[in-house]
Amino acid sequence: MLLDVRKLSGEFERVQRRYAPEAFQGADDYAVRAPVVLAFEVRKDRDRYHLTGTVETTLELACGRCLEVYPEPVRAAFDLRYLPQSANTGEGEREVEEDDLTTAYYRDETIDLGDLVREQLYLALPMKPLCREDCGGLCAECGANLNVTTCGCPQRWEDPRLAGLRALLDERKD
Ligand SMILES: [Zn+2]
Ligand SMILES: [Zn+2]
Repeated sequence: MLLDVRKLSGEFERVQRRYAPEAFQGADDYAVRAPVVLAFEVRKDRDRYHLTGTVETTLELACGRCLEVYPEPVRAAFDLRYLPQSANTGEGEREVEEDDLTTAYYRDETIDLGDLVREQLYLALPMKPLCREDCGGLCAECGANLNVTTCGCPQRWEDPRLAGLRALLDERKD
């Protein structure tokens, strides 16, 4: 999954790669379920490369409410500047801030597209994965998946924030 920058002809080039899902196994937070399509444009400026494009695939995530795995289609757009690794040595004064997500480094005249894809998939992960907006989640009493079944448990659980609000409203009534 390496891009040999010496093979880029001219100042501008379009690149498209397609990888089997198996190429991206082993991540903790997700599984890749569909082929990964990487498409981008490269602009060369001396020893720097500007890559803009997209990573598209379908991930398999675990729902944060009902814990079932579900497919999450992903289309991540990126805009990255690749500098030679040599620009990142020395006293660390050129070191990139940890939250700088737009600068990356290449070495040995190759850009690691596998790293690029993994990074973009990671950034594309939703903060709170949900199998669907109105996922019913699990019953707090018996653990039944309320999307597929109903249980007879009294629904005693109340959002603590709502409880706080209610207490406040009750106070005002007095
Ligand atoms: Zn769910
Ligand atoms: Zn229940």
